[in-house]
Amino acid sequence: MYGVADPGAFSFTVGTRIPGRHGRTGVISTPHGDIATPAFIPVGTKATVKAVLPETMKELGAQALLANAYHLYLQPGSDIVDEAGGLSEFMNWPGPTFTDSGGFQVMSLGVGFKKVLAMEAVDVRSDDVIAKGKERLATVDDDGVTFRSHLDGSKHRFTPEVSMGIQHQLGADIMFAFDELTTLLNTRAYQEKSLQRTHEWAQRCIDEHERLTAARAHRPYQALFAVIQGAQYEDLRRKACRELESLRGSAGTGFDGYGIGGALEKHNLGTIVGWCCDELPEDKPRHMLGISEPEDVFVAVENGADTFDCVNPSRVARNAAIYVAEGRFNINTARFRRDFTPIDDTCDCYTCANYTRAYIHHLFKAKEMLASTLCTIHNERYTIRLVDRIRESIEGGYFDEYKAETLGRWKGGV
Ligand SMILES: [Zn+2]
Repeated sequence: MYGVADPGAFSFTVGTRIPGRHGRTGVISTPHGDIATPAFIPVGTKATVKAVLPETMKELGAQALLANAYHLYLQPGSDIVDEAGGLSEFMNWPGPTFTDSGGFQVMSLGVGFKKVLAMEAVDVRSDDVIAKGKERLATVDDDGVTFRSHLDGSKHRFTPEVSMGIQHQLGADIMFAFDELTTLLNTRAYQEKSLQRTHEWAQRCIDEHERLTAARAHRPYQALFAVIQGAQYEDLRRKACRELESLRGSAGTGFDGYGIGGALEKHNLGTIVGWCCDELPEDKPRHMLGISEPEDVFVAVENGADTFDCVNPSRVARNAAIYVAEGRFNINTARFRRDFTPIDDTCDCYTCANYTRAYIHHLFKAKEMLASTLCTIHNERYTIRLVDRIRESIEGGYFDEYKAETLGRWKGGV
């Protein structure tokens, strides 16, 4: 080993298990602090959770934030974040950070779908489907992806090495390997080919990560998570887990954790997470990409996911959609004009302590910025508190009861 930054600065300790299943509590330790798991990681795509101060995110219980490598590479440039001392310092967030690899954004430009993680059944199978009216902005080959910026149309290329370089400059505590994204529309043959490509890219990510960790030994250690693809195919998911687990760099570096990604249908979520967690090592953390709805969170945690991120709580908040125990409702509708009660009288957030539904309804109608701020605070707190309570229920040995009670009340709409 050469003089690398201390990998001991990152660790994961398993706490209490859900009997007979893969779900567990734990603690992820990073150079910027600890994360008690299961934990929801709010998304701050461009190094900010839209409309909310970082101090407020801390107060409402966020333990870590996830930013996006693609967006920060284009603007302001990962070199600028590096000069600032890394993401946490740049955005004044005093806790751990994650960055995704940029692959999702870059490749969803190519597929042309906004929501690639399609949570619905699709009958068509095709490897070259482009949404109507969309121009293909990205092309994938065995070495990487060439794409055009959504900002100015300029041409760029991401490879595993480029993604690692960007993520090392961004300096997040947890980074993800650059993987190829597929959709449910892809054929089985393409999923197999893609998995092989993702495996080769994973090895290149480890090699480059090992090199950069040594070259940047003055910086805090950054953990690297693999991303497991394989869509809805059990054999492909299991094979991906086993192969990624066995990968090593020349100095012995392996993956510090695993991300479960890719195309999957909502009804398969628990089964797929379960297959992966059968194969993955117990002592490494597992991140589920892109979920936040209560049903999905329970199923993912139960089957072994430790952390998950999702842009939805803040994205829907800006469109006046509010989460409460009974489901989701839209504060924009006329029935709230004279409703002088809080959004949720069981919630402990700043918004619910101080504001009424009538006032927030008014802010949306008047197109005031404060509407987004107040609703984002509530939705992020709702999701974080849900996961905190799941964690407590595992520790207390009453996970199944808590799940039944919570989902019994949750109807998905109010
Ligand atoms: Zn609230």
